[in-house]
Amino acid sequence: MAMIIDGKEISLQVKDEIKKKVEALKGQGKEITLAVIQVGDNPASTVYVRNKKRGCEYTGIRSLSYELSGDAAEEELLALVEELNEREDVNGILVQLPLPPHMDEDRVISAISPLKDVDGFHPQNVGNLCIGRPGFVSCTPLGIIQLLKRSGISIEGKKCVVLGRSNIVGKPMALLLLRENATVTIAHSRTENLKEVTREADILIAAVGRAKMITGEYVKEGAVVIDVGINRDENNKLCGDVDFDTVEPVCSAITPVPGGVGPMTIAMLLHNCLESIERE
Ligand code: NDP
Repeated sequence: MAMIIDGKEISLQVKDEIKKKVEALKGQGKEITLAVIQVGDNPASTVYVRNKKRGCEYTGIRSLSYELSGDAAEEELLALVEELNEREDVNGILVQLPLPPHMDEDRVISAISPLKDVDGFHPQNVGNLCIGRPGFVSCTPLGIIQLLKRSGISIEGKKCVVLGRSNIVGKPMALLLLRENATVTIAHSRTENLKEVTREADILIAAVGRAKMITGEYVKEGAVVIDVGINRDENNKLCGDVDFDTVEPVCSAITPVPGGVGPMTIAMLLHNCLESIERE
C-alpha cells in the first residue's frame, strides 16, 4: 500500500512554525502585512482568495483586501500596485490570477516590486531561481519540495519527471528539483512516447490540468507521485491529474486531491510573506 502524503497535516506543521515566528516578530514590534487584490468575481478566485486570507488570520499575518470590478481599467490596477509598492507597512502583494482578458498579466506581474512579489512570478525572481540566487519562488513548487522532504522522500540523485511546463508550476518545479540535485526531465503536450518518459520517473510530478489523465500505466512500480491538478471529473467532483485508483496500487507514495498539494500552496505563500520581512 502506498503512503498517502497528507498535505493538510504537513501544511499545518508549516503554518504552526510560521505562526510562532510571526508572534516573535510581533514581540519585536514588527508586523507582516499581505495585500491581496482580486479583479472581478471569478468564483474559483474568490475561494482561493478567501483561503489565503484565512491562512493569514491563522498565522497572525495582517491581510488587506482590494476588490476591483471586472471591468476596471488596467491603469487602475497598476496604480493600486504602485501605491502598495510604495507603502512601508505592506510587505507582500498578491494579484489573484487569472485577470480579465482586457488586462495584460505580464505587465501587471512586472509592476509588482520584486521585493514584495510573494507569488514569485516577477521575472526578476524567476531569473534568480534560474541562476541560484535568493528570491521569491512560486508557492506550489515550493510546497511540493516541502511535502517530499517532510515525508522523508529524498530527492538528490533521483530521476524526476515534471509533466507540464507552465511558468507557475512546471518550470519552477523543474528548477527547484534541479537545485535539490535531482536529474530532471520536463514533459509536455509535444513529448513523444509520454508513457515511456513518465515510467522512467522515481518522482513523477503531474501538472497538466487534465482530469485523471495519469493512470497506472504511466507510473513505474514504487515511484512517488505528486498530483498538482485541480480538475472536475464527469460528476463535477474535484479530482487531480492522476487517476488515484489505478496509480495508488503501483506507486510507493502519492498525494491525494483534495488534501495534497493544494494546502501546501497557501502555506508557502505565508512562508514567502514571512521571508518578505527578512528581505527588506
Ligand atoms: P497550464 O495549463 O498552464 O499547463 C499545463 C501543462 O500541461 C502545459 O505545459 C501543457 O503542455 C501540458 N499538457 C497539457 N495537456 C497535456 C497532455 N495531454 N500531455 C502532456 N502534457 C500536457 O496549467 P498549470 O501549470 O497552471 O496547472 C496545471 C494543473 O495544476 C491545473 O489543474 C491547475 O488547476 C493545477 N494547479 C494547482 C495548484 C495547487 O495549488 N494545487 C496551483 C496551480 C495550478 P504545453 O506547454 O505543450 O501546452
